[in-house]
Amino acid sequence: MRMPDYMQLSLSAPDITDAEREAVMAVLHTPQLSMGRFQRAFEEATCQVTGLRHALAVNSGTAGLHLCVRAAGIQRGDLVITTPFSFVASTNALLFEGAVPVFVDVDPRTGNMDPIMAAQAAKDISAGGSTAERWLPRKGASTNGQLKAILAVDVFGQPADYDALSATCRQYGIKLIEDSCEALGARYKSRPAGSLGDYGVFAYYPNKQITTGEGGMVVTDDDNAAALMAALRNQGRAPGDTWLQHTYLGYNYRMDELSAALGAVQMTRLDELLAKRQQVADWYEEALDGVPGIELPYIADTTTRMSWFVYVIRLPKGTDRARVAHSLESRGVPVRPYFLPIHLQPYMVEQFGFQEGDFPVTEDLGARGLAIPFSGQLTRKEVDYVAHALRSALQD
Ligand SMILES: *Cc1c(COP(=O)(O)O)cnc(C)c1O
Repeated sequence: MRMPDYMQLSLSAPDITDAEREAVMAVLHTPQLSMGRFQRAFEEATCQVTGLRHALAVNSGTAGLHLCVRAAGIQRGDLVITTPFSFVASTNALLFEGAVPVFVDVDPRTGNMDPIMAAQAAKDISAGGSTAERWLPRKGASTNGQLKAILAVDVFGQPADYDALSATCRQYGIKLIEDSCEALGARYKSRPAGSLGDYGVFAYYPNKQITTGEGGMVVTDDDNAAALMAALRNQGRAPGDTWLQHTYLGYNYRMDELSAALGAVQMTRLDELLAKRQQVADWYEEALDGVPGIELPYIADTTTRMSWFVYVIRLPKGTDRARVAHSLESRGVPVRPYFLPIHLQPYMVEQFGFQEGDFPVTEDLGARGLAIPFSGQLTRKEVDYVAHALRSALQD
């Protein structure tokens, strides 16, 4: 097959049609630019997908995670088991409230939290003393020793192992927060992502499966938590408060109507958008089959529906990733290391004294992972071009 000499691709791309454009324009013909009917429509569509009673639109996934942390009653000094192989927001939401992250390493196949390590951490922390201390950061953690929750992440569109994580949460009487910001529409044993813990969060930044520009959504079946989060999203106004009366210390985490209109229309296209992304992932699997040494994404048996967020390959051990990335980029193929481990981010090292070697699986995945161009709009030809460029880059 004859390859084009050069194609300029993008790493990700939103999928917007005239229906979205018209809905956003329609909002601009009304005076209702916040807290209107599009927000309600977007929330109702989300309840349909998750099967949960509540969905609350917010202005980012990070804001949504923060609301879950507040709803779980997580406070200064509390401990929360979470994963270092994620986007920083999942840990930051804990730090906003002064909680201490207890990192556990991940399953090397999926990159999701290792549920056996999470169970061990919960057990050891409950035992207290030096048994508990092994799990804590080596410095900067002023803690009361109270374990409050597990915050798991559905990495790259694949749910974590929630049966195991829920069992641990039930055993120790703690909450389960599902960061599903990368997994809208995915299913774990046929159950929808977002519904697998006490609270779930989706995000709609332009590289996600659906977008609102900026935005997010919190979902839950817990009526009290939903009422609290609705108040906190809206400057702490509880039901019965007036516009200038505030029961709680809250935030402005509201989503505007323009974003909600965009999101409501995108939701009507969710199955189409996910199917297109699945097609591109299938093409990649075919085109990259046999490229020497690289590992393709692994889909667990428990993932009954994948919601492709990014397409992350792993380079062979010892490959100079920066050189491969540079070579791909010179061929018009943008790439990005995915993820840089949270515990090695400069501010985390500074506060908690984490070191290289602390979470070896996360660090290995972080060192070898490379996200290649991915969206539902890639053509077969573009996918073949990426595969061709990758073969060449690995041989250079
Ligand atoms: C995208 C994402 C978020 C939220 O991001 P925002 O930019 O705040 O919407 C949170 N966690 C993970 C794992 C994400 O990928």
